[in-house]
Amino acid sequence: MASVTLRRLSKTYAEGGAGPVLRDLSLDVRDGEFLALLGPSGSGKTTLLKCIAGLEEPSAGEILIGERNVTQLAPAARDVALVFQHYALYPHLTVRANIAFGLEVRRVPAAEVTRRVQETATRLGIATLLDRRPGELSGGERQRVALGRAVVREPQVFLFDEPLSSLDPPLRSELRGEVLALHATLGATMIYVTQDQREAMTMGQRIAVLHQGQLRQVGTPAEVYERPADVFVARFVGNPGMNVLKGRGRGTEEGSGMVDLGGWSVAVALEHYEGEIHVGVRPEHVTLGAANPETGSLEVRAVEPLGPETLVYLDARGQTLVARVHGIPNLRRGDRVGVTLDRSRLHLFDAAGERLG
Ligand code: ADP
Ligand code: MG
Repeated sequence: MASVTLRRLSKTYAEGGAGPVLRDLSLDVRDGEFLALLGPSGSGKTTLLKCIAGLEEPSAGEILIGERNVTQLAPAARDVALVFQHYALYPHLTVRANIAFGLEVRRVPAAEVTRRVQETATRLGIATLLDRRPGELSGGERQRVALGRAVVREPQVFLFDEPLSSLDPPLRSELRGEVLALHATLGATMIYVTQDQREAMTMGQRIAVLHQGQLRQVGTPAEVYERPADVFVARFVGNPGMNVLKGRGRGTEEGSGMVDLGGWSVAVALEHYEGEIHVGVRPEHVTLGAANPETGSLEVRAVEPLGPETLVYLDARGQTLVARVHGIPNLRRGDRVGVTLDRSRLHLFDAAGERLG
């Protein structure tokens, strides 16, 4: 097994093109870790995996697998398996031949190929499908075969590129469990790319958040959720994401401050500050009550009852504020409600969106 170390990695596809796709990216994935790489479409996730696998050459920087600098090595010499979003199985080959392919290319003796294919197929619950072709399999079965092709090689590092995104929700959740079980039994280092913050939160031992080719934050799910490094991470993680309201902040010497949100304001812990600021608050830390003429009120824009909880969208004087409340409140569009933001749960970000404190 092995760690994966990225040192100041950059990637630009074409001179004079759209600019760098990866920017000065450094990351340490620990030996045996399951790291979720989370980012929106176009943020550079696939490019990063391809650089690690050796399918793309970085424009600058280094890649180490364990102690080995693999930056200049061919893909086959890196001992890395990449599982794609689309299964990329050979349609004319049986499941058995698809799984065996990578071993045969590496000239593994036939008896060992047979043994390893059988063992892998059993582990993934596809032993009865070995003589079928990909066209005779369901989506979930095909993705198991794709996993099997990676597993059978016994690589040091697994790279997963949104492997479950084309499956429907129940199957997705089943295969998520399967991937985590593989991680537990194989103990291999795994980097799992997803655009789905929920998947990243539930699967990752740590989450690395990528945006516009830059790593914005690397941390445990709790760290990323509870202390987002910037406004992007705050909004991207959580469903719905954190409310981030723009305002003007003023902080005194004693650390008591005020943010003017345009017609209403919130008291915050803020020292020596004067200027544009962002106030973040999770929907579950917004409490609704009766409209109170003294503390003011906000208008309800939309109500989304989800059963055990309801999302209430409020017009915070031109900005949207979402509250997550228990059960199904008796509220309608146009109602006015009193709003309390849990002061101990406020997050402050500067004008550029970087976390303060
Ligand atoms: P993600 O996987 O996060 O959606 P990608 O790594 O696929 O992101 O793409 C990141 C950016 O790089 C996108 O703007 C994409 O258009 C561009 N890109 C990806 N592959 C190539 C390529 N082979 N040539 C030029 N640009 C590319
Ligand atoms: Mg991609």
